Amino acid sequence: MRFPKKIKRYCPYCKKHTDQKVSLVSSGKKRSSQKRGSISRAKKRGLGIGYGNLGRWGSKPAKFKRKTKTTKKTNLMYTCPVCNKSVMQAQGIRTSKISIEDKKTEIESNKHK
Ligand SMILES: [Zn+2]
Repeated sequence: MRFPKKIKRYCPYCKKHTDQKVSLVSSGKKRSSQKRGSISRAKKRGLGIGYGNLGRWGSKPAKFKRKTKTTKKTNLMYTCPVCNKSVMQAQGIRTSKISIEDKKTEIESNKHK
């Protein structure tokens, strides 16, 4: 999905519409120490104690079958040039590809051709 570099948007600080800069924000990394579904985590929770593996955890880790979600939600930030404050988008849209492009230059380059 394509997004323009600048969007005329309402700024809650200036209390009016301004040409705000669009930038993509990374959603962050998952913590490796707190892996969900790990045996060490289960033992800390009081599970997996006793004799044997109780038919649960094999010697091999579970096989990765399929990614459940192939798309990611967008995480955009709008920065106001007047007050230099930024607002995060309220709700992300699911897309596989995100690209921020300047729409105006694309139209101008087509005109020259
Ligand atoms: Zn502003």
